Amino acid sequence: MPDPQYDTIKTVEEIIEEAERSPTKTFRPEEKALIRKAYKFSQQAHGDQKRASGAPFFSHVTMTAFYTASFGMGDKTIAAALLHDIIEDTKATKEEIDEEFGPEITSLIEGVTKLGHLKYRGSDRHVESLRKFFLASAKDPRVIIIKLADRLHNIRTLQYLPPEKQHRIALETIEVHANLAWRLGMGRLTGELQDEAFPYAYPKEYAMVEKLLKTRRKVDEKYLEKVYKSLKKELALHGIKDITTYQRIKKKYSLWQKLKRKEMDVDKIYDLVALRVIVPTVEDCYKVLGIVHNMWRPLPGRIKDYIALPKPNGYQSIHTTIFTGDGGIAEIQIRTMFMHHTAEYGIASHYAYKNQEGLNDKYFHWVQQLKTLEDVDPKEMLKSLKGDFTHNRIFVFTPEGDVIDLPSNSSVIDFAYAVHSDIGERAYGATINGKHSALKTILQNGDIVKIDTKKTSKPTSKWLDYAKTSLARRKIQKYLRDNSSDSIFSSFWKKN
Ligand code: MN
Repeated sequence: MPDPQYDTIKTVEEIIEEAERSPTKTFRPEEKALIRKAYKFSQQAHGDQKRASGAPFFSHVTMTAFYTASFGMGDKTIAAALLHDIIEDTKATKEEIDEEFGPEITSLIEGVTKLGHLKYRGSDRHVESLRKFFLASAKDPRVIIIKLADRLHNIRTLQYLPPEKQHRIALETIEVHANLAWRLGMGRLTGELQDEAFPYAYPKEYAMVEKLLKTRRKVDEKYLEKVYKSLKKELALHGIKDITTYQRIKKKYSLWQKLKRKEMDVDKIYDLVALRVIVPTVEDCYKVLGIVHNMWRPLPGRIKDYIALPKPNGYQSIHTTIFTGDGGIAEIQIRTMFMHHTAEYGIASHYAYKNQEGLNDKYFHWVQQLKTLEDVDPKEMLKSLKGDFTHNRIFVFTPEGDVIDLPSNSSVIDFAYAVHSDIGERAYGATINGKHSALKTILQNGDIVKIDTKKTSKPTSKWLDYAKTSLARRKIQKYLRDNSSDSIFSSFWKKN
């Protein structure tokens, strides 16, 4: 039975409307036309393909597009999301897409398709390779954003897959996708991906956390309610207006991670429920902090100024924990609307703010603040996230989807030895992206490589010219030393 909540086909107008809910977005007619065109094209191409749930496959691409719209992405990203499974799963060709939608959208779709070849195996080394591969392959951050939206929908409809597949996909979602969402500063998506995957990945722990939340949440909410009431009065007295406050309940996976760090002692967790206070300006944030500390005694060592010192992924907010005076403890988080939006949507919010046409007056102060902040280029942000670790590296797949991380200019020989030394020693050729290739062929990022082996094949000294990695060179040299009766080594011994 398809899940009506997630397996419905979103209409194109629903998708457009969702994007325009963002205060900074009003589409121009030609932008809407592009989205409508992609919608139609995709609908025709996918035809009556079905998902594992029995729901139309087209529902999946409309949901993926809907999620990118909810992150505040623009018309091209939404169009690419609608078309993201076209190359892989339908008869439509890359040339056709290129002709209909141009090179920018085509390259977004191609990027997403390439990321689809990944398969999670579970070792730590492999997890890191997968994350690196994601970052290295996606020259454009929008590719990752579409891929993450795609994963969010897939994880929400995971119940239709066989259990062992569920487990693997859930772990991969936590280790790779949610981790990347976090690195891109997309807080809301990180939490959603983790909490959807949590029950499949760690069922016992999930049940434990659920139970714990049930018992503790009510108590904490009671304290918070009182704090909220007195704080609201006090802020009004100080003339701080335009305040938004709400309770944020800690996400389940995040709570479990924290419990593990605190010896599983829930009494050491102070932010199960927190009060968020959103104010117009940075100045207001510090004013509110002062008022809070004047009213309640803060817990020593629990005041965190992430406004002055943002987290590595750009997160900004002030956190403080207070004694409520009646035996309770509560956390208060103070931030501006801009910081709030950035914390929820991360890198996507930079796209949302970029196009400021058609702004609603109501949100004028958002934009005012934006202008005082340094304009962060998403490409630059991604570059800094990649850091050094993707520099001069390529990521090559086995036919099973395992990622092998190699220095650039590596050859088939390097790859073969990286997979297994037996495969290295028996290699005589390779099939790269379906094409037969020689051992000396230099590999490119994203190649899918199958090594052809033969029992009679063995390393020769010529291989040393092709091998770039020290692993392959070491193994080849050892083989030559151990196995060659007329090698320079053995003739040396004969002579002496
Ligand atoms: Mn998909």
